[in-house]
Amino acid sequence: MNELQRLIAEARNAAEHSYSPYSGFRVGAVVVAATGSEYTGCNVENAAYNHTICAEANAITTAAAAGVREIDTIAVACPDGFGCTPCGNCRQMMREFNVRRVIVTDEAGEPIEYTLEDLLPHSFGPGDLPSSRE
Ligand SMILES: [Zn+2]
Repeated sequence: MNELQRLIAEARNAAEHSYSPYSGFRVGAVVVAATGSEYTGCNVENAAYNHTICAEANAITTAAAAGVREIDTIAVACPDGFGCTPCGNCRQMMREFNVRRVIVTDEAGEPIEYTLEDLLPHSFGPGDLPSSRE
């Protein structure tokens, strides 16, 4: 098992804790901080749908709560036979923490590696705020 496969396996394990009673769409994610520390998350749905949190956002906020400010890698997996890529909101959250690469899977579960620039070209980030240009 190579590194990408290991990260996808870890993301699939995180999806085992998914709370997805409405969609049945389980998602897991693992964040690898620039320091090498790893943090997992799963999607957590809510009867008021707009309060649902994605697995990637869960893992990112868990890492941030532990003090992480630079994220190297995020791996995302949907263990029920779907390929999945991060939603737009999660891509923007990844931008905030300068994610270097994003690992997703195809429908067969094989890892696919992207840069954040691949997934969110011409993005807006912390350096684009007027206050950061002074
Ligand atoms: Zn998302």
